[in-house]
Amino acid sequence: MTARVLNGREVAKTLMEELAMSVGAMPTPPRLVFVRAGDDPASASYVRSKERLAAKAGVRSETRVFEASVTQEDLLREIASLNADADVDGILVQLPLYGHLRASEILDAIDPAKDVDGLHPVNVGLLWSGRPGLVPATPAGLIRIMEHYVLPFEGQDVVIVGRSNLVGKPAAALFLARNATVTLSHSRTRDLASVTRRADVIVAAAGQPGMIRADMVKAGAVVLDVGQAPVDGVLRGDVADDVAGVASAVTPTPGGTGPMTVAMVVANTVHAAKARRG
Ligand code: NAP
Repeated sequence: MTARVLNGREVAKTLMEELAMSVGAMPTPPRLVFVRAGDDPASASYVRSKERLAAKAGVRSETRVFEASVTQEDLLREIASLNADADVDGILVQLPLYGHLRASEILDAIDPAKDVDGLHPVNVGLLWSGRPGLVPATPAGLIRIMEHYVLPFEGQDVVIVGRSNLVGKPAAALFLARNATVTLSHSRTRDLASVTRRADVIVAAAGQPGMIRADMVKAGAVVLDVGQAPVDGVLRGDVADDVAGVASAVTPTPGGTGPMTVAMVVANTVHAAKARRG
């Protein structure tokens, strides 16, 4: 079997076209503000790519960049001012922050209605209680890829490798809400291969390049590769190349889940704008 490639770039393009139409029908385009207070070059380029994509959907965006001398109080003041600004629909604090800053206090200060990263405890609670809210972009992107390719959720055994607040846990909530049977695995899981071999759908989100090998995958399984880490200067996923010979469908890295994450941040901004403006 040669797995079908689930093309995240294509799915993201379709989503952006839908969003551009939806934004075109709004009296004022949504506005997204990024807050960057860290010197990680990857996160700077990540923010730039989100800004470019936002522009394609007609979403206004800008980035507030802070120097290393920024204090916790400066950032909390900035968040309070963005919360109070009626013309701001989405706020995204790009991680990692400078080491002296307490990220969780800053993220928790964001108005949940503008929290386009979906990481505020209010949005986490809404997600787990099955109520509408803002959902973290990467797991929301996985769902969108599955929907785009009309892959089934109901009754599927879904094994998620990785239990972070950013990816694994919210992915579990989203698959569960669609009536899948979900297993969350992690670094202490005993005999991971025997767990993943049961799966109809594997979500690989451990950040361990190539860790999911063909012998860990049931024939015909769908494999969604979230992991991204540079290996000898090349971006590699958690899924080894030989998995394509066993699975029925896989996301490539790059070009799979990554573009969807960026697109879902823009989608969340549009969603937040509509919800706030009624
Ligand atoms: P994280 O916070 O470091 O979490 C990694 C998770 O993987 C942890 O739960 C960890 O288990 C688990 N894990 C690590 N090694 C394992 C192993 N050998 N076997 C089983 N589980 C293992 O990372 P994250 O923020 O969730 O990100 C995960 C990966 O996705 C990274 O490569 C990141 O760059 C990538 N990512 C990609 C996108 C995208 O758009 N594609 C978006 C976000 C993140 P413990 O909890 O036991 O430590």
